[in-house]
Amino acid sequence: MKVWERVLDLLFPPKCPFCQKILDDPRAPLCPGCQGKLPWLEGRAGERRIDFADGCWSPLAYDGLVRSAVHHYKFHRVRALGDPLAVLMAQCLAGRLPQGADLICWAPLSKERFRQRGFNQAELLAREIGRMLSIPAEPLLEKVKDTGPQSDLEEESARRANARGAYALLPGVSLTDRRVVLVDDVVTTGSTLSELCALLRQAGAAEVYCLTLARARGDGHQSESPKKQENC
Ligand SMILES: [Zn+2]
Repeated sequence: MKVWERVLDLLFPPKCPFCQKILDDPRAPLCPGCQGKLPWLEGRAGERRIDFADGCWSPLAYDGLVRSAVHHYKFHRVRALGDPLAVLMAQCLAGRLPQGADLICWAPLSKERFRQRGFNQAELLAREIGRMLSIPAEPLLEKVKDTGPQSDLEEESARRANARGAYALLPGVSLTDRRVVLVDDVVTTGSTLSELCALLRQAGAAEVYCLTLARARGDGHQSESPKKQENC
């Protein structure tokens, strides 16, 4: 560890992104307590079918501690939470896609929302995952219509209609024969991700995979408790 990293760790000791306790091991992405009790999704439970995608994977269910960590990260501008969350996503991707990918990109925010929030959480996650797995991270997509947050809409049909035509490829993007990973923080109905995957296909991508930190149930209800999560 470099000296300045040690000084930073003393001044701002790394905390668990889920319970905010100071980590005994500052290099660990989370504390042993949360490691044991988070709603991990194994096997088929961590997969979701998304139109135009070859796979969509999430290491966690969008529940309890995971929900509040994402909320903190996104709405309270706690950027430092991003790196440990990216570690969990990179581990998930490496397990699901051992052959790697050519490019990693992210679900874009509208210019308006980017201005309000000051950063795009999906972009920060994608860039960090790309750095860890040596996959180049590039902006490929933009949001051309400010549709309002999908989280305000519970019905899948409403989310689908809201996402339609809201996104576009950035000018000049060509993905012929490329294998592309698309990152977002949470997947709910998958309507945004399927819109984005369709665009990546239009640009010629040979394979498209989605990766999110957490998976919510697609019907607008809360996920089941961790104990009830199916394990495969
Ligand atoms: Zn913890």
